[in-house]
Amino acid sequence: MSDMSTKWEDLPKKYETLAGRALTTAIVHDEVEPTCHPLREKNKFVISPGLLAGTPAPSSGRLSVGGKSPLTGGIKEANAGGLTATRLGKIGIRAIVIEGMPDTDDWYSIVVGKEKAEIVKTNDYAGMGLYDLIEKIGEDYDHRPGIIGCGIAGQRLLKSAGIFGNNIENTDPGRYAGRGGLGAVLGSKRIVAIISDDHGCDTPKPKDEDKFTEGRKALAKALNNHPVTGRLEDEEGNPYGGLKNYGTNILMNIINEAGGLPTRGFKSGRFDHAAKVSGEAVHELVDKTNKKFGDKAEGKYGHPCHPGCVMACSNIVPYEDTGKAHVSPLEYESAWALGTNLEISDLQDVAELNRLCNDLGLDTIEAGNTLAMLMEGGMIDYGDGPAAIKALKQAYDASSPLGRLVCSGAKVVGETLGVSRIPVVKGQSLPAYDPRAIRGIGVTYATSTMGADHTSGYTIAAEILGVKGKVSDPREIEKAELSRNFQATTAYIDSSGYCVFIAFAILDDDDGFNGMVDTVNGFLGKEIDVAQYGLDVLEMERNFNKAAGFTNKDDRLPEFFHTEQLPPHNVTFDVPPEEIDKVYEDM
Ligand code: SF4
Repeated sequence: MSDMSTKWEDLPKKYETLAGRALTTAIVHDEVEPTCHPLREKNKFVISPGLLAGTPAPSSGRLSVGGKSPLTGGIKEANAGGLTATRLGKIGIRAIVIEGMPDTDDWYSIVVGKEKAEIVKTNDYAGMGLYDLIEKIGEDYDHRPGIIGCGIAGQRLLKSAGIFGNNIENTDPGRYAGRGGLGAVLGSKRIVAIISDDHGCDTPKPKDEDKFTEGRKALAKALNNHPVTGRLEDEEGNPYGGLKNYGTNILMNIINEAGGLPTRGFKSGRFDHAAKVSGEAVHELVDKTNKKFGDKAEGKYGHPCHPGCVMACSNIVPYEDTGKAHVSPLEYESAWALGTNLEISDLQDVAELNRLCNDLGLDTIEAGNTLAMLMEGGMIDYGDGPAAIKALKQAYDASSPLGRLVCSGAKVVGETLGVSRIPVVKGQSLPAYDPRAIRGIGVTYATSTMGADHTSGYTIAAEILGVKGKVSDPREIEKAELSRNFQATTAYIDSSGYCVFIAFAILDDDDGFNGMVDTVNGFLGKEIDVAQYGLDVLEMERNFNKAAGFTNKDDRLPEFFHTEQLPPHNVTFDVPPEEIDKVYEDM
């Protein structure tokens, strides 16, 4: 972007097996100075579709974005669905690397397609709400392009800014690689959108077609049959697959029952009104509005976030009074961050907060925790949905200090308001599982190379959901091995293009696991060691963070988790530092 040029490069041999998170990590590790300012010319913004994106492997269309994070100061990868990964996979692009920074007030977009990579001036795209932006880009470009980019928050270089993606129908910009402030990195390059068009391109060809196809079928069968990831209904017509019927927000009531649902700014593990914003509540609302408004109703569950996702955990939440789409998707993390953690239990208020985040280009987890800091600091009352909506709307006003703050993350706002209980690790807000009630996820939050991040090592699968039998009591404190294993496997899955939710089925079904491995090996035409691949990714990330100045003293939860008891079980986080340090002891 410094000289406004583009060039194509062949994939270097050393990156031959890398894609998705593994490739964004390798490029950032190899090419970005760890101590550089994340919002200046030395940082790079890297986009990489997962290895299998664009192929018919089920649920394999995830897109990774990476760079040095302005929120954590460390390496960052975030991934999402949407249309872009499949588009890039078909074009045959393994990665896009955006480097440099223009000396200009203009705004640009990048357009890629078959043998095409252009930087175009798009000042008219800047400053728009993202619902309007995707509609405009949809009019400007044929063939329903993949679109990712940054919104108002990223264009103002604010730390809660995520990378949005358009949904399959191009009606909602809600497919977010939200975490780590990477929207601000893209904004620092003066780029609003990356538009991809795979018209005229072919489906990528596996090197070993038979192995790939057999693997794909075995994985699809495992996903379809598992009660978490499986089909919508059983043989009797009753709801079957948990994700398809209730989305990730099926977790709301489960985690609440476990006493681990962070409530009122991490002051309790249980919220009396959690059910009102749960996946079951969304399911009922969709059924009700579909019945009432018939063909005009737009609510949905069982909605895929990218072409070819068979688990389809996404949803479209309708307005109750019209049946029209309000927001898509409402995930568990968002319903928690913008709902129960703020003691807001009106589903339409929560949907509206989520819609505003999608429109402004904000990570919902960071935005929700930031609103909690405004509540802790006495600027809004807990439970006041309309006041939270009003505060978030301030972000549209470039001259509003509150508008800037509300997009700047929980750490900045908590410190600004004199709050001593700020739930962050390495500057990034905690997600929707209180680590005092579920210790393994606390070890992941503490040690993840990404700052507090549940997806980087989702021990909840073993600790709460009992996948592969209940292998780990959430109250135990010896969790280093569990967290490390989940972190390594996740790094592999995040590189393959598969959605991490396939883990529910493949951990329970060996045929499904082997099928998944066969698709990757069949595509590459070589055998990959799953655990070693993941560990290699983690090692690069850890090395980058060490060179950026992190030590194991940064692998700790905030003090209040150790000293304040969490009702209803009245527990503290008492995993000792020696156990936490075991996760990365040899890296
Ligand atoms: S399971 Fe859900 S999050 Fe994962 S790829 Fe499918 S729709 Fe997207």
